[in-house]
Amino acid sequence: MTDTTATESGTLTGTGLHKAFGRNKILRGVDIHVAAGTTTSVIGPSGSGKSTLLRVLNRLHEPDAGDILLDGRSVLSDDPDELRQRIGMVFQQFNLFPHRTVVDNVALGPRKLKGLSKEEARELALDHLDQVGLRAKADSRPGNLSGGQQQRVAIARALAMKPEIMFFDEATSALDPELVKGVLALMADLASAGMSMIVVTHEMGFSRSVADTVVFMDGGVVVETGEPEALFENPQTERLQAFLSEVL
Ligand code: ADP
Ligand code: MG
Repeated sequence: MTDTTATESGTLTGTGLHKAFGRNKILRGVDIHVAAGTTTSVIGPSGSGKSTLLRVLNRLHEPDAGDILLDGRSVLSDDPDELRQRIGMVFQQFNLFPHRTVVDNVALGPRKLKGLSKEEARELALDHLDQVGLRAKADSRPGNLSGGQQQRVAIARALAMKPEIMFFDEATSALDPELVKGVLALMADLASAGMSMIVVTHEMGFSRSVADTVVFMDGGVVVETGEPEALFENPQTERLQAFLSEVL
């Protein structure tokens, strides 16, 4: 793996985060802390607010209350576009541009948003495709790649922006089962290379073996948080016990 991750920055803290859509209170006072270079996995039932939490943390949705600190400084008065360049986001749907080559998909952000020349952006993109094992596919169209390969391109695209922290929102949920492993392995590589990450996932094996911290959400609050072993082996609340008995 090339040295493209940072360990000294990437501490993210959300405190007292609230978010409602109309009268529907989705986040009801969420605290989360991701230390630089660590991976936090967010688990919980569908509808518990996991995706909303990620979207509030990168200000795709503005929080109604609470604060967000990146590297110890509140980002709420910053330009949201600037914040989003510091946070890499990978979704269930890869959202690659179908008519552009793989390398162009990765190079586009650095070119448009970081002011790199065409050649510089291509070099950078090829480095990141190398990192995800897909340099040989640089000149293919996304449609000619498997879902797992497309998701790895989406990860390369996020990494090419040199984010301080990466968010993954059910990044493997849309993949055929045989393709899940490769994407999870890449995410585990990133974690061990010291990338700060928040990983929303139903993959309990990944949470257990890769995450430094697991956050269990239900009904818009953090019900339990802790190290994976303690949380999975010794859940303290009935709600987590019930959730685990359904998913494990
Ligand atoms: P999870 O990711 O844990 O499944 P979400 O954060 O996606 O949960 O959604 C939690 C709740 O918030 C759901 O009931 C959903 O319908 C609602 N919600 C999410 N986004 C919006 C939105 N933009 N407008 C209105 N309601 C929303
Ligand atoms: Mg979700």
